[in-house]
Amino acid sequence: MTKQTTIISDSNNNTAPPPPPPPPSPPSPHVVLVPLMAQGHIIPMLDMARLLAERGTRVTFITTPVNASRIKPIIVRVHESNLPIDFIELPFPCTEAGLPPGCENCDLIPSNDLFPTFFSSLQLLALPLEQRLKNLVPRPTCMINDMFNPWTANVARSLNIRRLVFHGPSCIHIYCSHVFHLHKIYETVTDEFEEIAVPGLTDYDDVVGQSFKVCRMHAPGWFTSPGYEKLREEVLHAEETADGVVINTFDDVEPMFVEAYKKVVGKDVWTVGPLCLYDKDDDFSARIVRGNKAAVDQEKLLCWLDSFGSLIRMNVGQILEIGSGLEASEVPFIWVIKDAEKCPKVEEWLEGFERRMSLRSFVIKGWAPQAVILSHKSVGGFVSHCGWNSTLEAASNGVPMITWPQFGDQFLNERLVVEFLRIGIAIGVKKPVFNYGEDEIPVREG
Ligand code: UDP
Repeated sequence: MTKQTTIISDSNNNTAPPPPPPPPSPPSPHVVLVPLMAQGHIIPMLDMARLLAERGTRVTFITTPVNASRIKPIIVRVHESNLPIDFIELPFPCTEAGLPPGCENCDLIPSNDLFPTFFSSLQLLALPLEQRLKNLVPRPTCMINDMFNPWTANVARSLNIRRLVFHGPSCIHIYCSHVFHLHKIYETVTDEFEEIAVPGLTDYDDVVGQSFKVCRMHAPGWFTSPGYEKLREEVLHAEETADGVVINTFDDVEPMFVEAYKKVVGKDVWTVGPLCLYDKDDDFSARIVRGNKAAVDQEKLLCWLDSFGSLIRMNVGQILEIGSGLEASEVPFIWVIKDAEKCPKVEEWLEGFERRMSLRSFVIKGWAPQAVILSHKSVGGFVSHCGWNSTLEAASNGVPMITWPQFGDQFLNERLVVEFLRIGIAIGVKKPVFNYGEDEIPVREG
């Protein structure tokens, strides 16, 4: 009776019970990007930061003082354009890590034996990063870390946020590394040049009528050199425990490998490349500051290009061979010689070379505005080490390549360019550069 009365009374007064409070709105997205401190990894992540920010996502980009000074022109442009990107500079404890002062980027590591030290010292950034992120308002909601920064997994866990792994290399390399690890293939291979069928590429097998084969020398996988065992374990574990994968590639450039990788990895995969197309407009002043301050005057370079590459890190003998080959080629060229390759002998030789070649050459000593050069209509070819960013930059600009891979993913990228995409020809190098004997450098005659 009481119950009935209550119901009638409610209905008569027309007062419905108050609606439940709306669920709290989800926090607005705030992504933290943690690149590996290497130009080929920082540059695409900077492009990704700007893409995310343009779509309304707040971004916090992690860097260190030396790297921040290299990308300063981009930071200034970001601030001027009011994109919601904050840059956090974490002091890099070089001395504590046993590295020379200022050694904050892979290309500043003075000798090969310091590479493992550099990679393991990156985890010294974990605690300072965690402290900085915990104090951020609004709080981060997601982290995207370069695959080579596995130490970020604990930071994301302590903040209780989702974490995606970013892969800078090509999917052909990522897939081969993944399945070779999965099937423990590296454990049984003794001959570095033995051709091994890559499992799981059924589309390739059906179309070509045989398996796609690679050798370990050209598909080395992640950190398989001695001295990197711990890092390798950490990298693989951090990838396994990530919530998803973001790759700087696009499905049409390597469809078989993207498909096959999506099938085996067991988590969401986003192909967001080519990220270099972020600077797709004709804004040369934006692209000329990509990655580092260019060691060349923009006006001078464009002026030369308007009236008409190579990016390879080489020893003295190799530089002289390349120079002599270019001289003999009789074609106009831009030749980029990295800071790390300069030495008195090279400088002396270059003096005469530049005099002789003054009418048809442009020699850049230091950082080149590569994206600008490749997008210029007069550039008809690109001699490249086949780094994945360089490959995407050439492909996106329709520039055919002469491929000269050095190590890592570059031999597989060469196969993609030469065999699958047919947008380049190989100079024919078979051994990674650190396996060359003293007298085995490629020579001018080819
Ligand atoms: N780059 C440049 N100027 C240089 C050397 C390199 O702009 O003098 C850029 C190049 O355009 C690319 C990146 O640095 O975006 C190198 O990345 P890639 O993946 O090609 O090479 P890796 O890092 O694997 O050696």
